Amino acid sequence: MRWSQTFIPTLREDPAEAEVPSHRLLLRAGYVRQVAAGVYAYLFLAQKSFLKIMQIIREEMNAIGAQEFYLPALNPSELWKESGRYQTYGATLFKVMDRNELEMCLGVTHEEEMTNIARNELRSYKQLPQIWYQIQEKFRDEPRPKSGLLRLRQFWMKDSYSFDQDDAGLDISYQKHYRAYGRIFDRCGLKFVTVEAYSGTMGGTHSHEFAAPTDAGEDSLAICECGYAANLEKAEAQAGRVEDLPGDAPPEPFPTPGQKTIDDLAKFTGESRARLMKTLVYVVESKPVVLLLRGDHSLSETKLAAALGTDIFRPATPEEALELHGAHLGSLGPVGLKGVRILADRALEGRKNLITGANRDDTHLHNVTPGRDFQAEYHDIRVVSAGDLCPRCGKPIQIRIAVELGHIFKLGRRYSETMHATVLDENGKETPLVMGSYGIGVERILSAAVEQNHDQDGMFLPRPIAPFDVILTPANMDDARLRAAAENLYEEMLAHSLDVLFDDRPERPGVKFKDADLIGVPFRVTLGTRKFEQGLAEIFQRSIKKVRDVKLSEVVKCLKVEYLG
Ligand SMILES: [Zn+2]
Repeated sequence: MRWSQTFIPTLREDPAEAEVPSHRLLLRAGYVRQVAAGVYAYLFLAQKSFLKIMQIIREEMNAIGAQEFYLPALNPSELWKESGRYQTYGATLFKVMDRNELEMCLGVTHEEEMTNIARNELRSYKQLPQIWYQIQEKFRDEPRPKSGLLRLRQFWMKDSYSFDQDDAGLDISYQKHYRAYGRIFDRCGLKFVTVEAYSGTMGGTHSHEFAAPTDAGEDSLAICECGYAANLEKAEAQAGRVEDLPGDAPPEPFPTPGQKTIDDLAKFTGESRARLMKTLVYVVESKPVVLLLRGDHSLSETKLAAALGTDIFRPATPEEALELHGAHLGSLGPVGLKGVRILADRALEGRKNLITGANRDDTHLHNVTPGRDFQAEYHDIRVVSAGDLCPRCGKPIQIRIAVELGHIFKLGRRYSETMHATVLDENGKETPLVMGSYGIGVERILSAAVEQNHDQDGMFLPRPIAPFDVILTPANMDDARLRAAAENLYEEMLAHSLDVLFDDRPERPGVKFKDADLIGVPFRVTLGTRKFEQGLAEIFQRSIKKVRDVKLSEVVKCLKVEYLG
């Protein structure tokens, strides 16, 4: 391609609306333009990069025997009602009405449609296993679309689905994906980790997430040097030990006028927050449930959903809390409550002499001991924080921000049972299909690559996913001899199948170099006036900004052999 005939609308200034480096640079480098919140147009450079990413994904999926499909984004809502996800996804699901007032929705993923095909078409265990995949648009009505291509409302996903006769078969399909995903992210040049994850609204029992550690991401990982790694939503860690006050005195009320929050109370009593107990009230499927946490811990709604077996819950209103406890928010506690379910976080198990609300306004209790003064079910319901201890080795955990790239789930019989997808087994008996589902966010790969590979001048994408391998930059297009040499070199590069962008614009060298540094192409070949007279060109490696002089006649060979493999 010749730059003079190419649409690459680079910006001189940082766009004001951009929050994270990938968003800022993809706008500045002329890759994308925003159409609406969380909806972007992909221009020439972005599309070129995405096609390379998709090709890598295709090759690795085909290599595990997966078959490529293409399903419609437009789904009958009926299918989603059948699986139950019409309710669990709620407002996140885009819903549309057709002219006959039939309600449809835009797929977030395609478990329903794939299961529907499987149940209509697969009859016998002899047809198993099957792995079906597609690279297709997905829609999520995000409450807060942000960070450029990191949280979109319309995006590409590679989603695949495996159908097996039994759990052993699922294990094999899952392992195939696990390995294919590693190869895909490796080939895309990303630094990534594989972590245990929570299945969320996908349902199922077992899942792994592939995530790229970056400074900007929407995901938090708990990582330990021993190799333990988990999504923060799923991570289990032991809280650091807290010394309890001695003595076995019964709970004793004391006045705490105007002290509402844990921080207020810690200051007022002079106690550490770890010796205070936090009381929250939630309404779970219309019934109140009291939740207890150590004062310095916070609730994980993801873990709460796992503990409760439902994600239909919300915080109680102040009025509902008042009705249950007989006191206003800020003075709530578990002592004396009757007929209500109480869930306590495991970090409270075995503790004693805690401070918590007395269920009387402006009053708290000293000496509250779980198990003696109230009964609770213990569950892991808190967010792990930095400094907690690794569940494997006991050393302190680190928290890292990351971009989620892919996620693989063992769904088991979650969809086949609710949607009645069965085949006949060896004995002619109906048996539900055992399923897995596996996703990769295509835009996430590009965004993560930018987050991991940029500096103040722009980005430098890994070669396999960069829109071009090399930019050819003649410093002066007015010099007829230099220009002719550049044209020759361009033809030679094309003849050797290099993906080259020829910067034939009549611009000053400074402008060309600035643009070249910005747009993420890993190599630049420069023909400068002085070195050209000596028969030399420069090969500039963008990631490390290293320049090397090479004989003009050996540029292509050198690029192919030493840099582009
Ligand atoms: Zn560890």
